[in-house]
Amino acid sequence: MRIDVVSIFPEYLAPLELSLIGKARQDGLLELNVHDLRTFTTDKHRTVDDTPYGGGAGMVMKPEPWAKALESVAGASEGAGAAEDSRKPVLIVPSPAGERFNQALAYELAEEEQLVFACGRYEGIDERVIEWAEEHFTVRPVSLGDYVLNGGEVAVLAMVEAIGRLLPGVVGNPESLIEESHSDGLLEYPVFTKPSSWRERDVPPVLLSGNHGKIAQWRRHEQFRRTADRRPDLLAEFDAGSLSRADRNAFKDLGYDVVDGRLRLRGGQED
Ligand code: SAM
Repeated sequence: MRIDVVSIFPEYLAPLELSLIGKARQDGLLELNVHDLRTFTTDKHRTVDDTPYGGGAGMVMKPEPWAKALESVAGASEGAGAAEDSRKPVLIVPSPAGERFNQALAYELAEEEQLVFACGRYEGIDERVIEWAEEHFTVRPVSLGDYVLNGGEVAVLAMVEAIGRLLPGVVGNPESLIEESHSDGLLEYPVFTKPSSWRERDVPPVLLSGNHGKIAQWRRHEQFRRTADRRPDLLAEFDAGSLSRADRNAFKDLGYDVVDGRLRLRGGQED
């Protein structure tokens, strides 16, 4: 996969040289280029922002430096020998007004050949850039969550890490991707390591039993318990149609019944 990030703070992306993503770059599993938006300006002050039409607080990012930067990135990938029939690169525009980023979207984006991230600052990028960019890219405004950051860089760090670790070979043991939170619509079970007794707290005895079937069942039911406790919204979306009898009973104990393949909180409000 090739990733291009355009930002007025290229240094902000330095952590992507570290840890598993840094190693993936070194190993050639991921090509990642960071571009300084200001190199695509033409004035002496390298201006990237201006006042908003219609008035109001803050500044807006000017369209032309963005068009030049994105043309350069799109042209570079064409010049790099991309196949004629290859898909348009995906342009991800981090924005609190975008679709919410989640694990399903991370998996979807990990299938792409090229991702381009356009880091906004100030009040954001002139909206015409987003329309214009459709000529070269599949454009997706994406939000990290329902809060406002100062710029897109932090969102890009999070998204590149979440997407990058799904690329083949990046995470040493691919099993760990299957078992983790959000891979199957549930949160992960709690984990423990040595010593088995620590500050008068013991590891759950089943984990020391060596009985793999019992351990698997305990972990699964802990997933249910933790998800019901911390993220009941996820259970509303969970496909409960193929749950085993033991799993249904575990949900019963948590106050959930399976109705038409969905989990319903007993005594909960109907839509
Ligand atoms: N005026 C914009 C609004 O209310 O939608 C917010 C602009 S914000 C101060 C500046 C930049 O930070 C945005 O253009 C975007 O790139 C980034 N940003 C802020 N919050 C974000 C979020 N939740 N997810 C992704 N990017 C975000």
